[in-house]
Amino acid sequence: DEYSRDDILRIAESENVRYVRLQFTDILGTIKNVEIPTTQLGKALDGEMMFDGSSIEGFVRVEESDMYLKPDFNTWRIFPWSDDNAKSARLICDVYDIDGQPFEGDPRSNLKKVIQEMEDMGYTSFNLGPEPEFFLFKLDSEGNPTTEMNDEGGYFDLAPIDTSEDCRQEIARTLEEIGFEVEMSHHEAGPSQHEISFKYADAVTACDNIQTFKLVAKTIARKHHMHATFMPKPLYGIAGNGMHFNVSLFKQSTNVFFDDSDEFGLSADMRHFMAGILDHARGFTAVCNPLVNSYKRLQSGFEAPKYIAWSGRNRTPLLRIPSARGPATRAEVRSLDPSANPYLATAAVLKAGLDGIRQELDLDTPVNQNIYKMSQKEREIENVEDLPTTLYTALKALKEDEVIQDALGEHIYKQFHKNKLVEWNAYSSQISQWEIDEYLKNY
Ligand code: GLU
Ligand code: MG
Ligand code: MG
Repeated sequence: DEYSRDDILRIAESENVRYVRLQFTDILGTIKNVEIPTTQLGKALDGEMMFDGSSIEGFVRVEESDMYLKPDFNTWRIFPWSDDNAKSARLICDVYDIDGQPFEGDPRSNLKKVIQEMEDMGYTSFNLGPEPEFFLFKLDSEGNPTTEMNDEGGYFDLAPIDTSEDCRQEIARTLEEIGFEVEMSHHEAGPSQHEISFKYADAVTACDNIQTFKLVAKTIARKHHMHATFMPKPLYGIAGNGMHFNVSLFKQSTNVFFDDSDEFGLSADMRHFMAGILDHARGFTAVCNPLVNSYKRLQSGFEAPKYIAWSGRNRTPLLRIPSARGPATRAEVRSLDPSANPYLATAAVLKAGLDGIRQELDLDTPVNQNIYKMSQKEREIENVEDLPTTLYTALKALKEDEVIQDALGEHIYKQFHKNKLVEWNAYSSQISQWEIDEYLKNY
């Protein structure tokens, strides 16, 4: 482990840290935190900080609402943007109930449960390289986010077209200061759309990184009078924000997805794992694409998948196998978007893959042509199914998939489903500008 209790107390003192944020993520994927002065840090490190969980969305258990935050010492980070004379730091925490058990409504603890199942099957780590995309939009004169674009750049463009370059570079630099290994930073396909890729990590760390990434992007964008948004599809007719997951399974230092003796370099484990993902893709869509808006991205093309298939080259299917082999052999799950709660999405994707291995599911043949250009008939012949097209159909598919429900655990599944149905119903009764434009005159 990187830090001990004493290390943290010592660093806090020598670095002049005055406040520490104890962070966790709620069921809907929002980062929550309580801030404590460093005088309370010892107590916090001992896992004795209590909070009232009943007001946290999805946590509700009013009768026993006292909960404890247990910090993960390895997540200790000083915020690079904090004031030198009174620095702020953070610790990511697991939530425990009053009896000292991991709280079943805590997404991070829940992911650890699925990882335990993986370990029981003989694997030692699930490595995850996430690729969250985002837009940088202008703020209005009152400081509120707009959807006004900040640049007209396209894929890999550079200044002066890409006027967001300074901001993106400062985001990347800040990520490095906070411990990320940044691999590449570039303009994405949409105007004002960006991507900064960072090194993969074990599942829990990768999810922590996603949450930190969003916090850093939003914080630094503000400094540049911009808003960083991870909303899946903020603008009609322009690419959406995906969060591809590059995944691989390891036994110690060996990537079990790679098999040198196979014609394509892919192991039986990998084929089963991928078959499991395809088999549960409809079931995990609500978890991986949890907003009404997520489906506007999935329906629109722009390299976002709409159909359940895999390919070695083509980017239109849900699953792609990047060409790297050996230790870097991996599958890229392309349907996810960055509005997903990363801990829940990872639990769902991992569980789906493990189910494929457990059942030794067969992987269909790859679809190496552009699926968008195939006719419905051709897709039927190739056995290509559709992803759910709305949050409502996705919730129905989740209701039929016990493996994915199990990945969330009963408490989270029920709260999630209930919350999302409310969201769908609220949306369904709205009247959009599109309807007015299409119907008002003609009916
Ligand atoms: N923005 C695309 C999506 O919605 C992905 C583009 C890419 O391949 O990086 O998934
Ligand atoms: Mg991208
Ligand atoms: Mg990608």
